[in-house]
Amino acid sequence: MPTVAQSIHQWRAAFAAAGVDSPRLTIELLLAHVTGLDRGALIGMGNHELTPAQSAQLQALCARRAAREPLAYLLGHWDFYGRRFAVKPGVLIPRPETEAVIDLARKLLPPGAQGWAADAGCGSGALAVTLALEFPHLRVVATDLHPTPLQVTAENARALGVSSRLALVRMDALTGLKPAALFDLMVSNPPYVTPQDYPTLQPEVRDFEPQEALVGGQSGLIIPETIVHQAAARLKPGGWLILEHGMEQGAALRQAATSAGYKDIRTEKDFAGLDRILVAQA
Ligand code: GLN
Repeated sequence: MPTVAQSIHQWRAAFAAAGVDSPRLTIELLLAHVTGLDRGALIGMGNHELTPAQSAQLQALCARRAAREPLAYLLGHWDFYGRRFAVKPGVLIPRPETEAVIDLARKLLPPGAQGWAADAGCGSGALAVTLALEFPHLRVVATDLHPTPLQVTAENARALGVSSRLALVRMDALTGLKPAALFDLMVSNPPYVTPQDYPTLQPEVRDFEPQEALVGGQSGLIIPETIVHQAAARLKPGGWLILEHGMEQGAALRQAATSAGYKDIRTEKDFAGLDRILVAQA
């Protein structure tokens, strides 16, 4: 059977040839996954031989990664805001830039905030579950149109201990919630990629992540604009909308927020200085 060092050598080269990002880190993480050891422990174990079962599992996972399947789906989990979330095909993998939505919520609401938040299109539950954890007195409604995200969000809420404050409802964005001033906070990382950009996304995203979580209709704006309007009709006066969007959508969404009657409207930029998040107060 191959040793740890031989596996690293073989798959680092294969991943590099296949255009996989961070080939060395990738093989180390997959080796850690199949052996149950952590990456640090593997470093001193170059001559350690894999068992036949580990070797077979590693071959299968590495072949899938070389075919550009996302590492998060192979591992079955991914970190968001310092916590581990279960993920699987059918839910968008949490992105580090989406953590800024949580940072903004923590700036806008006191830690003891009570009342209700909503997450439109919850995916893995990264936003909804993290809000429930960061605000221990807040109750959260998480919606999604598709069953897999609701099931994965429920699993993550259970694993992270917030099920009792998280309600899951199957609906399109916020459509099934009666327009009524009920919410203190609404967050969303909606589909916002344009149909033109979609074919140019990296294969991991385009070929494996759910298209319905990525493409936001014409100009990528149809779903984000719908959420701006739906949230306006459901936030309490003074409540906040925090909405992730694409880097060319800031002006259009500020305009949508103005026409929906929000008062304090601004666009937050990401580390690269690009427009990424609409913040608006009802
Ligand atoms: N930024 C995401 C990407 O990697 C898009 C996420 C979304 O549409 N909500 O492609």
